Amino acid sequence: MVAEHPMRSRSRRPWRDVWLLPLLLFAACAPDAAPEPEDDAWIDGKGDGASAVDIASTRLDVDLATNTAVATIGLEKNGNIELEVGGLTITEVTDNRGRRRYKILNGKLRVSSVRGPIVIAYAFSQHAHADGLLPGGSTVIWPYFCGNLFPCHSRPADGTTFALAIEGVAAGKSAVYPASIDSDAPPYMLAWAVGAYKRIDLGTTTAGTRVATYFLPKGEPAARAGTRNLVKVFDWYERKLGPYAFGGEVAAVPVVWGEGLFGGMEHHPYWHVAKDAMSDEVTQAHEAAHGWFGDGVRLRCWEDFVLSEGTVSYLSARALSVVNPSLQAKIWAEYQGELDAAIAEGGAPAWPHGCNQIDILKDRLFTNLPYMQGAFFYKDVAATVGPDVLDGVIGRFYLAHRNRAASMQEMIDAIKTDTGFDPTPIAEARLRKKF
Ligand SMILES: [Zn+2]
Repeated sequence: MVAEHPMRSRSRRPWRDVWLLPLLLFAACAPDAAPEPEDDAWIDGKGDGASAVDIASTRLDVDLATNTAVATIGLEKNGNIELEVGGLTITEVTDNRGRRRYKILNGKLRVSSVRGPIVIAYAFSQHAHADGLLPGGSTVIWPYFCGNLFPCHSRPADGTTFALAIEGVAAGKSAVYPASIDSDAPPYMLAWAVGAYKRIDLGTTTAGTRVATYFLPKGEPAARAGTRNLVKVFDWYERKLGPYAFGGEVAAVPVVWGEGLFGGMEHHPYWHVAKDAMSDEVTQAHEAAHGWFGDGVRLRCWEDFVLSEGTVSYLSARALSVVNPSLQAKIWAEYQGELDAAIAEGGAPAWPHGCNQIDILKDRLFTNLPYMQGAFFYKDVAATVGPDVLDGVIGRFYLAHRNRAASMQEMIDAIKTDTGFDPTPIAEARLRKKF
C-alpha cells in the first residue's frame, strides 16, 4: 500500500522531524542513492516481457467531473514494469525516484527500474461496449478491459488489493463502491456505480456480514424480490465454504447496462446486476457465490473459467435449494434448458486445454457452456458422492486457495483425493468435449 506522505506525518507527529532530518542527510550520501541507470531495452520493448514485476496493490483516486484519476500501484518488488493502459491518456509517471521516463507500446506502459509504488496520473473516457466506464454510470472491465479504466495487469491470476476514492459525482446521485479491498482480488473485480441509489438493509449472517441491496427509482419491488433469500444464501456460503474474503458488508447493486449485457457481474463486495435481472434470485445467488469462486479463488488461466462460472452456477442452485427446497426442481429445469440451448449453439469446450492461450471472447469460451456444463459436472459428482460430501470438498478447496489462483484440474484432483471418486470421466464428457 501507499506509504504515508512525510508531510502528513510531520504535521501530526512533530517529534518525527527530530530524527527524520539526519536520516535524510544520511540517505543523501549513501551509495545506493546514486541514480540507477534506465533500462533502455526494457522501455523500448526489447526486454523480456515475462520478467515484468507483478502488482500488489492498486489505489485509484478518481474525479468523475473530469474523467481523470491518479493510480498508485504498489509492486511485488522493485523492477521493470509493463502495465495495460490501452484506453488511457497518461499525463505523468512518478515513483520514489521522482518523475520517470516511460514509453507506451501496444497499449502497454513500460517503465524501467521502478522503485516503490508507481504513481500514474491519467485521463479515461466512456466506452460503449461493456469495456470500461459505461454511459449508464457504472463500470465493467471483465474480462481484460481494465486498461480502459486504470493501469493494470488483466491476467486474473495477478491478484491485487484495491483502494478507491471517487469525487465529482453529479448532484442528486451517489457512487456505490468499496473504499478498500484488503485481500487479493482479480483485476476485473473492481467497479463503481453512479445513480440515484437508495439502500435496504436485509440483515446479518451468522458470521456477522451485513447484507444489503440498493435500488434505483421504481426498482424497490424487484430488488426485494430478488434478495428475499439472500441473507440465508450468503449465510449458507459462509457456513459451508468458509469466511467471506472481501469485508464485513455486501450488497446487490442494480445497474443500467443497456444492450447486449444480461445478468450480473461479480464486483464484490457490491456486485452489479442488470436492472432487468434484479428480481431474479438465481442471478443474485450466482453473483454472491463469486465471492468464493472467481473472486475469492482466482483463475490460474482463462481456460479455467469453468472453475469460476461452473462452480458458482452449481453453488447458487445448491444454496437456494437448501434455503427454499421448493426452488430446486425449477432451477435445475431452467439449467437443463440453458444447457440444451448452449450445446445447440456450440462454442469452445467448457474447459479447454492450455493456459492463457485462448481469447475468452474471440474464441467463444464465454458462452453458457462453462456455466451449465460446469453446474451439471458438480451435480453428477454429487449424485455419486452425496451433495453434503461435495459441499465439504468445495469448502476445503476454497480455504486452501482463498485469495490465490487455482485451476480446474486442482478441483478435480481435490474431489478424487477427498472422496476416492475420480470425476475425470464426467469432466471429459462434459467439460473437455466440444459441442
Ligand atoms: Zn458468473
